[in-house]
Amino acid sequence: MELLAKLDQQLQALDDKNLIRKRRSVETACAPRVMVDGRELLAFCSNDYLGLAAHPRVGEAMQQGVELYGAGSGAAHLVSGHSRAHTLLEQRLAEFLSPHLVEAQALYFCTGYMANLAVVTGLAVGDKDTEIFSEALNHASLIDGARLARTKLSVYPHADVAALGALLASSTASNKIVVTDAVFSMDGDLADLPALLALCEQHKAWLVVDDAHGFGTLGEHGRGALEHFAIRSPYLVYVGTLGKAAGVGGAFVAAHRTVVETLIQRARPYIFTTAAPPALAHALQASLDIICGDEGRERRAHLQALVAQLQDSLRLKRWQLLPSKTAIQPIIIGENDETMRLSAALYEKGLWVGGIRPPTVPAGTARLRITLSAAHTADDVRRLADAINELERT
Ligand SMILES: *Cc1c(COP(=O)(O)O)cnc(C)c1O
Repeated sequence: MELLAKLDQQLQALDDKNLIRKRRSVETACAPRVMVDGRELLAFCSNDYLGLAAHPRVGEAMQQGVELYGAGSGAAHLVSGHSRAHTLLEQRLAEFLSPHLVEAQALYFCTGYMANLAVVTGLAVGDKDTEIFSEALNHASLIDGARLARTKLSVYPHADVAALGALLASSTASNKIVVTDAVFSMDGDLADLPALLALCEQHKAWLVVDDAHGFGTLGEHGRGALEHFAIRSPYLVYVGTLGKAAGVGGAFVAAHRTVVETLIQRARPYIFTTAAPPALAHALQASLDIICGDEGRERRAHLQALVAQLQDSLRLKRWQLLPSKTAIQPIIIGENDETMRLSAALYEKGLWVGGIRPPTVPAGTARLRITLSAAHTADDVRRLADAINELERT
């Protein structure tokens, strides 16, 4: 069949450039040690930064959630799928983020991808005179949100606050929306949120902050990037994901209650989809108990110690460890082939580290993306650093 032949050709072209992605089927729970094809691997590629994905208390809460609410929600939120479990979670999240937001309300989404689509389109669609200002290294979901919004879009260079300032100053749009990752997912660095917020307040622009990698891991109480930078503003629209540090799934938007009400009324990725299972929302209460309590603080401290240990023990000459202080520790290799060879060589040694290639990252900056978790031990990190040091020498 011709149509299939055409797809085959396109797939072959990807393969020729070493850009075919493969999935591995994990036979055990998300943890540093996982079984794949009957073999134990030490994994450094999940976003389970606090080790909550398989935490017994979170799992028990999920079971209790199923007993209380069953398996599925049965409908969209605006029909009959909005459960008391969702309401309670949203109230808790709003209260948790309230030191940083004004008249905070929260809205739970099935995924972070959908939350980002909802925020960007929801703030834009009501106003024809909208301009979106998007940071160059933003996550794909923010980029797709901006595309779906079908409004004027300006991309500013990575970490270039001055360039954003110039764009904002020359914009005549009455509705300005700045969107940025808080922790850049492939580089691990932080956006300068205080500087961005000052610009947004000056130019009366929304600041949409996607804190997928910061929520739970940054800030004394795990409130994320807003707590890390100690900022508070009615201009802030905060997106946190709940499938990474929180270990379960879904995401939330927290912002002024008027923003949240706007999303409920207007955001299609919220309205036209079945609500996530209420049991997930129930389980997330246990995640939040851990995140904001002593155990969360200890887990964050351990994670930071592992980051410092990894940086101290890597002795790289050809490859470049990026200057990230977060759990995302990328090593730039450069070419796709070498990156994938390296990832395969680590895999042979029982170490699972993802190789990241274009288009996820710019061409020529293929990298190993190491992610650390509070569930790792110092021994785990030593094993990884030794293996990478040795591979660079050979
Ligand atoms: C993972 C991620 C998302 C998407 O969140 P999901 O809940 O996985 O859909 C959004 N933004 C960033 C920066 C991410 O890393």
